[in-house]
Amino acid sequence: MAPGSYRDYLEEIRRSADLAAIVGETVKLRRAGNALVGLCPFHQEKTPSFRVSPEKGVFHCFGCQAGGDVFTYMAELHGISFAEAAELLGERYGIARPRTTGREDDHSGRRRKRILEALSLAHSFFADRLKAPEGARAREYLERRGYDASAIGRYGLGWAPAEWDRLLRHLSGHGLSGDEMAEAGLVLPRRSGGGFYDRFRGRLTFPIRDTAGRVVSFGGRALGDDEPKYLNGPESPVYDKSRTLFRLSEVAQEVR
Ligand SMILES: [Zn+2]
Repeated sequence: MAPGSYRDYLEEIRRSADLAAIVGETVKLRRAGNALVGLCPFHQEKTPSFRVSPEKGVFHCFGCQAGGDVFTYMAELHGISFAEAAELLGERYGIARPRTTGREDDHSGRRRKRILEALSLAHSFFADRLKAPEGARAREYLERRGYDASAIGRYGLGWAPAEWDRLLRHLSGHGLSGDEMAEAGLVLPRRSGGGFYDRFRGRLTFPIRDTAGRVVSFGGRALGDDEPKYLNGPESPVYDKSRTLFRLSEVAQEVR
């Protein structure tokens, strides 16, 4: 059981969260005295009436009267509850929620953690493959579309080698099981003989992240005539497509 109450948990998040930085991910802010101002994300406007006070950790819009703290902001921006906003922020800042739950949740929490670990390792693996000699064709493809090394890094693009088990072997080397990789949507069971094979092969990869910034799935685009042209990762314990809390990078939408 983590120490502290739910109230302490919220206070700790409030202290850690940088409202101006979080708002700045969506709204272009400029300084005006002690405040930062920008175009309101909650209503349509051409002149900025949205203000953030970094010192107080609050925002207010003089146009639509939206206002509140970092929890309110996240909840309204993503259309989620206060508790869900708190959970997202807690995860983002590495603040553990006080435990009131039983063993079952511990088990599913551990499982989710392993799946996220597999996805994070896969993300680094794909990124490294894109930088390696074997990623040359994919890099040329991206360069022709105006994506240089810094854009590739910014969007977290990668290359899934055109082989059956490169990722599988890489993740096995990190102690992950085939079942865990399959749950993460990274591998598929072989049709006969048991074992698994890589889902993404010979494709550009784009991370799909949750709003806490964690990689929860991938999209993969074929470079040549392979079908399907665009391959999406499946739903998983960490990736529920019916929820709207996921971001596909802009570049993924652009090149798909
Ligand atoms: Zn407004």
